[in-house]
Amino acid sequence: MLALMDIRTKSVHTGVNIDKTFNSVITPIYPTSTFYFDEVGKGKGYDYTRSGNPTRAALEANIAALEEGVNCSATATGMAAITAVMFFLKPGDHIIAGDDIYGGTYRLFNAVLKPMGFKFSFINMRDLKAVKDSVGKDTKMIWIETPSNPLLNIVDIAAVVDIAHKKKLLTVADNTFLSPYFQKPLALGVDIVVHSTTKYLNGHSDVVGGAIIYGNKTLQERGRYLVNALGVSQAPYDAWLVLRGVKTLAPRMDVHQANALKVARFLEAHKNVKKVYYPGLKSHPQQGLIKKQMSGFGGMLAFDLNTKKVTLNQLFRKLEYFALAESLGGVESLIETPWFMSHVSMGEAGLKASGITPETVRVSVGIEGAEDLIADLNQALKG
Ligand SMILES: *Cc1c(COP(=O)(O)O)cnc(C)c1O
Repeated sequence: MLALMDIRTKSVHTGVNIDKTFNSVITPIYPTSTFYFDEVGKGKGYDYTRSGNPTRAALEANIAALEEGVNCSATATGMAAITAVMFFLKPGDHIIAGDDIYGGTYRLFNAVLKPMGFKFSFINMRDLKAVKDSVGKDTKMIWIETPSNPLLNIVDIAAVVDIAHKKKLLTVADNTFLSPYFQKPLALGVDIVVHSTTKYLNGHSDVVGGAIIYGNKTLQERGRYLVNALGVSQAPYDAWLVLRGVKTLAPRMDVHQANALKVARFLEAHKNVKKVYYPGLKSHPQQGLIKKQMSGFGGMLAFDLNTKKVTLNQLFRKLEYFALAESLGGVESLIETPWFMSHVSMGEAGLKASGITPETVRVSVGIEGAEDLIADLNQALKG
């Protein structure tokens, strides 16, 4: 057996060829809820689909290989993955997280777990002194999300891991925005990676899903136990769709990035745009860190529109190729306003503190022709 090294090869081949019955090239969907035993205690490795399923196992092997983890649990949604990971802790424990994390994660932490007795510090994680100063006697976990959503701020993963591990804290990184193609948190020392596979890993906006990737066996055992006990594992059909999508991760990410860079440069030069947030632009203030921990910039960008010239609705109505929609990471371009849509649950104070304004526009740049996307933005930005 050859050692699969290149992530392009891994995404196409790992976990995929498991049909020994009819030699189908593509992993079969096993929609069965239960598996029969040949005799008591003697089966083929599966007993009940909540606990394990061959289609889901194929996807788990694939994603674990991409992130270079020991194992993976595929979950019903990204939030299911994040929920399961929080069950590594208990009420009374303190968690440090960024003040600009994904809105749904913030809602789970702040509105669900906090009233149950979990304690949180939401801080500017670019400030390493603030991270250090936030560690207290009950701190158990540091939650890392980088680049942040929607302003693409970068957290120094290795430096945060260093602070955490000196105090024996668990580190978790949400790697949804860049995918393992552009960033590998486990290689930077993070203990657990989570994904919303709804986004780039599946890439086609036709399924919701999540993943937990474990950095060692102890975490894997506890994590898999939790996913089964909580009942948050992914359905076989959905796992199959993500497995189909993930095989083209590399070429999709290359095009997302190339298009995003062109769109970002176009927007930066436009007179009705005040500011563009994209790690691939020289104007992004964290160049050193970007080079250090990312092998690419991804396909997400944000910009502040001059709404005195063009209102949000004028822009959105005129656009033909950018659907006004939440979510991201699919082949089609999407556009939205974090202030009024994706990040509403942060509340006005939270939005302001993180630097989001009512003029901020978030774009998930798809894999269409870049010239078409730019022409579309150009006509819509005239107002
Ligand atoms: C979408 C998203 C999630 C939540 O995933 P769902 O699949 O919608 O449950 C978590 N983190 C990030 C960064 C996301 O973009």
